[in-house]
Amino acid sequence: MSQFSEEIRKRRTFAIISHPDAGKTTLTEKLLLFGGAIHVAGAVKSNKIKKTATSDWMEIEKQRGISVATSVMGFNYDDYKINILDTPGHQDFAEDTFRTLTAVDSVIIVVDIAKGVEAQTRKLMEVCRMRKTPVIVFVNKLDRDGKDPFDLLDEIEEELQINVRPLSWPIDMGQRFKGVYNIFEEKLNLYTPSKQFVTENIEFKDINSPELENHIGAPLAVKLRSDIELIEGVYPEFDVNTYLAGDVAPVFFGSALNNFGVKELLDCFVRIAPSPRPVQAIERKVEPEEDTFSGFVFKIHANMDPNHRSCIAFVKVCSGRFERNANYKHIRHGKMMRFSSPTAFMAQKKEVLDEAFAGDIVGLPDTGNFKIGDSLTAGEDLHFKGLPSFSPEMFKYIENDDPMKTKQLNKGIDQLMDEGVAQLFINQFNGRKIIGTVGQLQFEVIQYRLLHEYGAQCRWDPISLYKACWIESDNAQVLENFKKRKVQYMAVDREGRDVFLADSGYVLMMAQNDFPQIKFHFTSEF
Ligand code: GDP
Repeated sequence: MSQFSEEIRKRRTFAIISHPDAGKTTLTEKLLLFGGAIHVAGAVKSNKIKKTATSDWMEIEKQRGISVATSVMGFNYDDYKINILDTPGHQDFAEDTFRTLTAVDSVIIVVDIAKGVEAQTRKLMEVCRMRKTPVIVFVNKLDRDGKDPFDLLDEIEEELQINVRPLSWPIDMGQRFKGVYNIFEEKLNLYTPSKQFVTENIEFKDINSPELENHIGAPLAVKLRSDIELIEGVYPEFDVNTYLAGDVAPVFFGSALNNFGVKELLDCFVRIAPSPRPVQAIERKVEPEEDTFSGFVFKIHANMDPNHRSCIAFVKVCSGRFERNANYKHIRHGKMMRFSSPTAFMAQKKEVLDEAFAGDIVGLPDTGNFKIGDSLTAGEDLHFKGLPSFSPEMFKYIENDDPMKTKQLNKGIDQLMDEGVAQLFINQFNGRKIIGTVGQLQFEVIQYRLLHEYGAQCRWDPISLYKACWIESDNAQVLENFKKRKVQYMAVDREGRDVFLADSGYVLMMAQNDFPQIKFHFTSEF
């Protein structure tokens, strides 16, 4: 294999997702410790924006700063190059997380043994299912009491709508937690409370051997044997291809805080998780090992310093090799660009990189050239798909509160929308601008940033809307009729596409009933 192919095949680019507090930050930190990327516990800052902090602007700014540093964490482990993409925990930033999921090749889901599957996890899993992203589940906090593991597996299958296959199995839990049997490697891992890294790891191919009693005592040995027998009877044998196809999720148990079960997870992960996968562009499918570079922007991060309105565009390299100072084509602008200081993200450091390979994330310092979804290539016209906007859930009219600053306001709105902070619709009836978000916090962030970064003052006026959906029809006449009938409820998005603003679920249902020839879409990509 050429060195080029080797570089790409050793990459593992993934995200950890969970409901807040399940242990995502803790797990990330332990993984980084194994990679030698950090040396002390507590080094990874959680970029959680807590609900209580919604009015604490300094806090949000600080958090935004932290999340630049921890947006992508790269490290080497064994012969692998691992890129962890961080996702904001706060649900008001769910859209950010959705987009990040378009840039990963696989996902690890953290589930709390006591709380089971929670709302946020369910929502994020929908995106993984849509994209057929391979998923591994890590059931966390086994040092605490929680649900029966079999019940939890049923719950995961039902709630996340994916088949599961345990690859490790807990031996009791809480105060009595003894460890796990690693089905994947046929090893017995014994747990010693709060002794990090001192896991006893015993090769144990035959759990029917009486040796088991010596390690965990007779009652637990009997229980473990019957559990494993049940597992082997109920769940089909693990087949890595079903995992790679996104049909079966292997499950591991452990305790991130105690660094227990994490290495087993990581060792299995690097072996089975996919290297960079092909990416679908509108024109064709792009293979990671193609010679020439291509990539797309999945995230834009504004800089902390409001006086220098610069930002960082995060580019996922889809194919080939990205090189510093090479000429690349910005497809939407149709112009060539060169980047003299692209950054790599290694653990918490940002450093200038000379080259990056398919699977890597490159940070490009930018002053407003990029927007979310932009493609960058060595010259070929490629448009990458798969960065949908979701139908927002909260709406407000945005109004100018300082007539002297109209230009600044418009520019600010434009750039914030490019960053993907929220969505803008223009009401076709009254010409007013409507901002749609998934959470209240985004309105506060927009107002704050317009003032501090653009010197513009905005005011929010209420509008009572239930949903905005994109509409289309094969029958132009029907579409025209609909738009005439619903003239007060019609808007266009930034691409000029028709959007129907339904003010209640009932109105939407009636519209769908009355106009069967019109398609109503709830994501922007259809
Ligand atoms: P995140 O919101 O998903 O990033 O969760 P954190 O990693 O910040 O963890 C939330 C809380 O759970 C913290 O107080 C952690 O110390 C705690 N925690 C994480 N893993 C474990 C575990 O394995 N056992 C116990 N008992 N607590 C844990």
